[in-house]
Amino acid sequence: MAIQTWRRHHGHTLVATVIGRTPETYAVAVWDEASGTVHRLQKELQRLHSAKAAADDLIRRTFRHTCTLEACGQWLIWTV
Ligand SMILES: [Zn+2]
Repeated sequence: MAIQTWRRHHGHTLVATVIGRTPETYAVAVWDEASGTVHRLQKELQRLHSAKAAADDLIRRTFRHTCTLEACGQWLIWTV
């Protein structure tokens, strides 16, 4: 069960997310809302800032995305 989730939108359809499972366990997933394609990082990370960086990196590598100030938002706490 997630204790906290963060999300960052990249462009129109790409979303990066970090799921805090415990205060020291963060899972990373990214997806494309247009295609429904989801990619998860196998490894969980111990620090939030590392997990966010890994999510941004995964979205850039997976979807050949280039971050720009105009297209990409900020990391936000996601309340379900
Ligand atoms: Zn971006």
